[in-house]
Amino acid sequence: MNGIGPPTFLPQLLQAGKDGLPLAFKLISPLFILVACGLAGGAVYQWFDLIMPMYGPPNTAFFFISTGFGVFIVSQILLNYYRCITVSPGNPGYVGCKEVPLHNVDRDDDYYCKHCKFVTGKDTQHCFICGKCVSDLDHHCPWIMNCVGRENHKYFFLFLFYVTIGCLYLASFSVLPFYTITYRHKRFSKFQPKHIDSGMLSLCAVLPLTLTLAVGGMMLWHLYLLGTAQTSPEFAFNCQAKMRAYKQGKRWINKKDLGFVKNWKKRFGLENNNFWYILWLFPYLYKPKVNEYNKISVDDDMNVVELGLRNNNNNKIGGNINENIQIQQRTPNSSTTIHHV
Ligand SMILES: [Zn+2]
Ligand SMILES: [Zn+2]
Repeated sequence: MNGIGPPTFLPQLLQAGKDGLPLAFKLISPLFILVACGLAGGAVYQWFDLIMPMYGPPNTAFFFISTGFGVFIVSQILLNYYRCITVSPGNPGYVGCKEVPLHNVDRDDDYYCKHCKFVTGKDTQHCFICGKCVSDLDHHCPWIMNCVGRENHKYFFLFLFYVTIGCLYLASFSVLPFYTITYRHKRFSKFQPKHIDSGMLSLCAVLPLTLTLAVGGMMLWHLYLLGTAQTSPEFAFNCQAKMRAYKQGKRWINKKDLGFVKNWKKRFGLENNNFWYILWLFPYLYKPKVNEYNKISVDDDMNVVELGLRNNNNNKIGGNINENIQIQQRTPNSSTTIHHV
């Protein structure tokens, strides 16, 4: 019987899944954002309703200092979360293939995105959820309904950083009362209210510790990536290149890696800033240095070239392809190199 069998049905099912994935991500992301805001709001509420009353009345210096720091952390979490969602992850600068004779476009090279059917920069990856190319794409994150790319990677890292600090901070205030009341069956302090929601107290102790492990691990991973001038996909490619070079008895180096401090300053736009070591924590307090990243255009002979594009205005991707294309300087085509040892 020539009906629908596994050999024909399976590819169709996979294609339907692939087509449906962007829609599923777009539908689920608002829920994720609501959950994230709900968790932050719930933590603030429990701080005032459950945790702080066990430590004493609200008219003490201890209350003001500890609550003040907590409010600071929550404000940083929300600020960076807002930036992660709203900042465009990185416009690669498109060049239409109509402008470039097709024989001048090497489709095997990284310049050409077969999904967008445009020529894009070499540090660009295509996001299948957004349907766009993004500069230095790390991944598409459903929690921020956005890609993590060149322009918002620092906000994403800071969001993870402050969430980790916030979780540790909340846990440092809730674990001891939880242990004393639940396991030692004693009063935590003379201020402890008569009726304590023990279920909520255990949640305030266990959930932040769990989140510290999950979010803190992710934060350390992005600390490594930003410090070594890589994205997650690049890390995979670089590992393969390293292995290939190793098998040939050669040493591979990442030419984009300028060293941890220089990479950090560059990514946060703090080159030539004497206070970079503190300002990276507060990216809204300074105007970042405009970096000349490699973008692409066409030269006089209609060949695709990389160029340093002075553009820091976070334009959304997919606008007029001719806008903002100005040749400033040529940059080397290759971001990696192999050296003999
Ligand atoms: Zn693309
Ligand atoms: Zn995306």
